[in-house]
Amino acid sequence: MTSHEIRQAFLDFFKSKGHLIVPSAPLVAKNDPTLMFNNSGMAQFKDFFLGNGTPPSKRIADTQKCLRVSGKHNDLEDVGFDTYHHTMFEMLGNWSFGDYFKKEALAWSWELLTEVYKLPKERIYVSVFKGDEKDGVPFDQEAWDIWKEMVGEDRIILGNKKDNFWEMGDTGPCGPCSEIHIDLRDQADVDAKSGKELVNADHPQVVEIWNNVFMQFERKADGSLISLPSKHVDTGMGFERLCMAIQGKKSNYDTDIFQNTIQVIEKMCGKKYGVNGTLNTTDYTDIAMRVIADHLRAVSFAIADGQLPSNAKAGYVIRRILRRAIRYGYSYLGFTEPFMSQLVPVLAEQFKDVFPELKAQEDFVTRVVNEEEKSFLRTLEAGIKRFELISAQTPTGGIINGETVFELSDTFGFPVDLTALLAKEKGYKIDEAGYEKALAEQKNRSRQDAAKEATDWVEVSEGGDFEFVGYDTLEANAQIVKYRKVKTKAGEEYHIVLDRTPFYAEMGGQVGDSGELRVTNDEVRIINIVDTKKENDLFVHISRDKNLDEILNTHSPLLASVDAHRRQNIMRNHTATHLMLAGLRKVLGTHIVQKGSYQNDEVTRFDFSHFAKVTDEELKQVEDIVNAKIRANIAQKTYVNVPIDEAIKKGATATFGEKYGDFVRVVEFDPQFSVELCGGTHVPSTGEIALFKFTSEGSVSAGVRRVEAVTGEKALEIISRQAEVISQLEELFKGQKDVVKAVENLLSEKATLLKRIEALENEKLQQTKQGLLAQVETKGEISVIIARVDVANADALKSLTYQLKESLGTCFIVLGTVLNGKPQLAVMLSEDLVAQGKHAGNIVKDLAKEVKGGGGGQPFFATAGGSDASGLDAALAKAQGIV
Ligand code: ATP
Ligand code: MG
Repeated sequence: MTSHEIRQAFLDFFKSKGHLIVPSAPLVAKNDPTLMFNNSGMAQFKDFFLGNGTPPSKRIADTQKCLRVSGKHNDLEDVGFDTYHHTMFEMLGNWSFGDYFKKEALAWSWELLTEVYKLPKERIYVSVFKGDEKDGVPFDQEAWDIWKEMVGEDRIILGNKKDNFWEMGDTGPCGPCSEIHIDLRDQADVDAKSGKELVNADHPQVVEIWNNVFMQFERKADGSLISLPSKHVDTGMGFERLCMAIQGKKSNYDTDIFQNTIQVIEKMCGKKYGVNGTLNTTDYTDIAMRVIADHLRAVSFAIADGQLPSNAKAGYVIRRILRRAIRYGYSYLGFTEPFMSQLVPVLAEQFKDVFPELKAQEDFVTRVVNEEEKSFLRTLEAGIKRFELISAQTPTGGIINGETVFELSDTFGFPVDLTALLAKEKGYKIDEAGYEKALAEQKNRSRQDAAKEATDWVEVSEGGDFEFVGYDTLEANAQIVKYRKVKTKAGEEYHIVLDRTPFYAEMGGQVGDSGELRVTNDEVRIINIVDTKKENDLFVHISRDKNLDEILNTHSPLLASVDAHRRQNIMRNHTATHLMLAGLRKVLGTHIVQKGSYQNDEVTRFDFSHFAKVTDEELKQVEDIVNAKIRANIAQKTYVNVPIDEAIKKGATATFGEKYGDFVRVVEFDPQFSVELCGGTHVPSTGEIALFKFTSEGSVSAGVRRVEAVTGEKALEIISRQAEVISQLEELFKGQKDVVKAVENLLSEKATLLKRIEALENEKLQQTKQGLLAQVETKGEISVIIARVDVANADALKSLTYQLKESLGTCFIVLGTVLNGKPQLAVMLSEDLVAQGKHAGNIVKDLAKEVKGGGGGQPFFATAGGSDASGLDAALAKAQGIV
């Protein structure tokens, strides 16, 4: 079976068991403060387990793009060195939300693996949780009994809490799990040693392929476990490992998933993969090819899902992965020019039917990767040389000091893990603590937010089905459902969840609402809401007011009101963003794709893919289009629950990397102009925006431009300010119609005048020079000029001394002048005097004492400045003495 067929068979199988097949969520996690990237199939369904949302079906199956390079799951170090861990991989999964449980889940796993995929039964081992007394969770007898019937007791392994008890995080849903392992070794090896002994022992051919998690408990903040009211199944099967098993391979990289790319890499570098056998994990040619084939996927899909490489957070994770691959290619395959970008089209083609987002943005992703490669390749070689220099001075087995690690990262862009890798290859360690210290010492470096500390939610009332009413109204009666206290660096916050709310929670670029909750108890209490944020599907109202516990705990009705003025401005900016995107596509072309957007009550900021600077004329054209649409006062039309396919067919613009459900909200301002999938709030008709004006245009990263614009009051404010400047100018140029012309005239007049002044000064200098030459005294062989002169500036003084010297042979020249009230001296000696040991610098220092100053310079020419102009004559007299 090809990998495509294997994936399809999985989805078809679960479809036949009543599952709804859904698309993968984007690689980049949104609205989940605990997660940067999706690292398991269940991440997008978290809310259903937490009871914060209702799944579209009680049975769901899919393939999910996962990335395990940070946080709780980090497999990065193993990738390339082993043959079965990837950074990005596909996790096939099936879920039951309070529907079927262990019996069906395990039976279906068995049926799929042994009957559909025809994997040999005798090579399969399963594990069951053996219980944990300390935690008060019993042995999973139920799973044992089910497996016993299918695989037989001798192939069941009892697992401990580490391997067989799954927890979402420190708190939240958890439960026992049951893993399925497969033994892929040759028969002779199997005969020599039972696979059972190798399960969970890091053997590359006895690997876990599938994990069935049974969520039956919830872990509270104090560590205790409570039983969940309805029980769920969450399973995850590694797609690449499954393909290895079914295709009879011994390494994931030998499957058709990776061979494609590896063959292209071979051609590009002229080296062969697997010369020493494809399982060799010490051959660096092979390691490099595996690393590149793997990292290419992580980087390309992350960029396609909207995560551009950058210097912070998730963007830095992607940059690090890319740089790791570039360095392997450079050091072991001889790639000194960008190569990863050439592989992007290969990958895009291979996955065009499964994850079309890459094919759709092939050009963009290729260019972003290419720019990143070019920039890193510029410093890579120098960095490696620097590393080699330092390591040569370090005794074998020694430690590369923290400052060096920091220097490599700061100056050469070597991520710490890359330096650690270079060190490891040569048998060194790095001083991580020292590096951290050096990093902390570097100011201006954004520190990570202090970890937040949250209490358990305090449940106040039954929530029922949550309702967001903020599209239609800015005020609503509501009840508090639950709240909690959170300690942040800024102080303590209350997080409040209501049963319904008009407050928009930050999402899709639009900031959260602020406002107040008016609680009517015995008295009226006002709770100020500073922000509203989404945590998975919960709308969390944030208050920084003190001592709210008592009031939050009452069941009193409350009135939730959004700050209407602020929201109005936010809506103006959001609608303007839609019009602007449509305008940009009209003027620049349909390759314009949204790469980020942000709207608050002041500004709309919009990032989009485009490879050249947007010219002023182009911006003007877009501005004109948007303002024409504003004047046309087009009414907002919003369609809810539109099947996604229908919306796309209608031409709605979707953003890559956003997760859309099967049914979407479509916001339209003129069906021929702007139709977007959007959950944001908008003005009822475009006329309310009043005015649209760009304020800036620039580049954010390779291939991405950023524009900022203002609307309504803000736009008017800017325009009135500009008008004021103009009227002030008109005032200054009284009587002249065209102020621009007037300023131009002024500038050109000024230039002419400057030229004339220069000429006059030069003329005067020549006269001074002639005058001085006429009075040269000769002392022996030396021509002496000691004089007070009148010049325009210090440069003229210098130039005069040089010119005088040119006209004389052996000479001693001392000139003094007063510039802006300050005395200046210049001393010039001919070379022969210098050869005799005379030094202009020493002389000028001595003379400068008379004018309360100091100076110095070269042996033949030196200058000094002083603070007492009345001493200048004395200084010149002193010069006479020196002669
Ligand atoms: P392992 O111990 O092999 O790292 P795991 O316990 O971390 O696996 P789970 O979190 O249970 O794995 O994930 C479910 C399945 O996803 C695993 O059974 C495995 O097939 C697959 N998987 C996990 N991590 C990776 C990875 N880094 N690359 C490829 N597949 C993986
Ligand atoms: Mg793991």
